[in-house]
Amino acid sequence: MIRPRNATLRKRKQLLDNLYNAFDASYIASDPIQMVHRFEQPCDQEITAVLASAMAFGQVAQINKALSSVLTLMNNQPHYYVTHFDPERELPRWQKWYYRMIRPEDVLRVLYALKIILQKHQTLGKWIESHYRNEDVHLGITWSRCVDELKDTDKKHWQWRRALGVGFTFLLADPSKKSACKRAFLMLRWMVRKDSIDLGLWNLPTSKLLIPVDTHIQRIALYIGLTKRTDTSQKTAIEITDTLKKLDAIDPVKYDFAICRLGILKMCPRKRRIVQCHACPIYDICLL
Ligand code: SF4
Repeated sequence: MIRPRNATLRKRKQLLDNLYNAFDASYIASDPIQMVHRFEQPCDQEITAVLASAMAFGQVAQINKALSSVLTLMNNQPHYYVTHFDPERELPRWQKWYYRMIRPEDVLRVLYALKIILQKHQTLGKWIESHYRNEDVHLGITWSRCVDELKDTDKKHWQWRRALGVGFTFLLADPSKKSACKRAFLMLRWMVRKDSIDLGLWNLPTSKLLIPVDTHIQRIALYIGLTKRTDTSQKTAIEITDTLKKLDAIDPVKYDFAICRLGILKMCPRKRRIVQCHACPIYDICLL
């Protein structure tokens, strides 16, 4: 067996490419991106992606249930609903909806801000592309400008009841705050990369994506030597992405979905187990 510490870059790439190929679109049901794939039109997909990623905390089944109820309230026509959105008319319909600390007004404020953005830019893709600068070292910086505009738009235009608590701000994860911002980087991966899972609707460089770090990614990245860090901070996201760039400089984040499946689908135990680990495509580079 090749010892992990001696594994060459070529070997790492070969095994991670195998892992990437093993977890194709047939695994989509284990991820909130499945909600985005329910729609065929890009205008519906991009609004659903913003909502699905904003609510991507907790168990996948709970996220999907909450998002499904949001889409039902939007008559399963996200773009039409947002572009014709009237908060005064809609507030009563949403009264009973909630997801953890998120209240109806939090979601409705996001939808109303998106309506105003769409009036200006026609698509969310054109909007985020307008915020991109060549000097942005990663797309979190670009998205942070979008979050600022959403918050300014909310301040200027929202005239109705505001929910108590932190729900609205929480929904708009801001990478400039230096936290991992997993949900923002997840949305960017979905919308910028293109393969059978990610949609590639937004014309931005895949080389500037950062990996969305959660506990699964951090733990397995540590096992296979992509990072030495033991937290889920933005620094860890940068370190893992920089290591992955040595394997694929143009599309480093392509490995995210597959690595994450090992954790989400409980294929990767926290302690090495012979049967599970021998079947693992990245066994030969695992340090655990
Ligand atoms: S070899 Fe075992 S511990 Fe290592 S990544 Fe694979 S399943 Fe996880």
